[in-house]
Amino acid sequence: MTAIIETQGLVMQFPSTLALDQLDLSVPPGVTGLVGANGAGKTTLISLALGLLKPTSGSITVLGLDPTTDGPVLRAQIGYGPERNVFPDDLRAYDYVRHLTEVKGLPRDEARSRASDSLFLVGLGEERFRALGTMSTGQRQRVKLAQAIAADPHLIVLDEPTDGLDPVQRDYMLGIIVQINREFGIDVLLSSHVLEEVERVCDHVVALSEGALVAQGSMAELAGASGGIDLELVQIDDRLGAIDEVVCSLIAGGATVRRSGMVLSIGGKPDDDLFDLANVSVASAGARIRRLGQHRRTLDDIFAPHNSTGSSPELGATS
Ligand code: ATP
Repeated sequence: MTAIIETQGLVMQFPSTLALDQLDLSVPPGVTGLVGANGAGKTTLISLALGLLKPTSGSITVLGLDPTTDGPVLRAQIGYGPERNVFPDDLRAYDYVRHLTEVKGLPRDEARSRASDSLFLVGLGEERFRALGTMSTGQRQRVKLAQAIAADPHLIVLDEPTDGLDPVQRDYMLGIIVQINREFGIDVLLSSHVLEEVERVCDHVVALSEGALVAQGSMAELAGASGGIDLELVQIDDRLGAIDEVVCSLIAGGATVRRSGMVLSIGGKPDDDLFDLANVSVASAGARIRRLGQHRRTLDDIFAPHNSTGSSPELGATS
């Protein structure tokens, strides 16, 4: 499978900040989430992929081209939705998308029909003649997506496309993004700091932390079933110490435990013995179970060693 974006030893050093540190990446076709906290280096990587910045050292290829030397040819094949609002407020959405599509090199008539089609696709058919300055955040995000897809690119790069959206708008936006990939075969690089949404819609993930690569791979490889079980207890007002008793009992039984609020992550092979130990520990402490099941690794777990999650350090046999 040919990589959409590939980097080797990619470094971007700003005068006082090392934004990317020796990045070796391979982004396959599909929908890829680029995740990381604020300042992780996502926008810097996007700027390098678009040829808007020159790397300090190392190499990057996008769609088989070198952005530093083939920038204009490459950018004609990429649709880009920037994070910042870059709209001229008095322009109508349709005119804005049509104009940018013409700038990409499409003939005027084609640019017109593509502008309308892409605005319809993102659900702005009726509103396409509204001035951008009168539009809501959700509508503006959709205009950004429409202009990114209008010139029929091979790849769209979307920087925080769900920023400022409520949950309903967020779901709608993510649905369209996946539809664009599945129906039109356009590959997507989606930058986000919301791990849950990346987990939900992306086929692959590239995770950055402070300019370094934390993880990359398919979502199926990175998330999903893994070792241990999760036990969530019901808070009982007259048995506030019950959870501590459960923790002690689990540790006495040889398990390792990480606590986060009323949820205990119990380390070990998720077999009958571990489930029995959990049940016995809960019963002997007089606690009540809200949820008990095999632990599913999430992107949060991947970031856990790099972020402060508020959960306790691991307690027990190996602590
Ligand atoms: P956010 O989610 O906040 O947009 P990000 O993951 O996109 O963050 P970047 O914008 O790539 O992160 O920034 C990475 C680091 O590089 C930050 O410490 C930032 O301050 C620094 N940085 C980015 N652009 C420049 C620049 N032009 N000059 C100097 N430092 C920069």
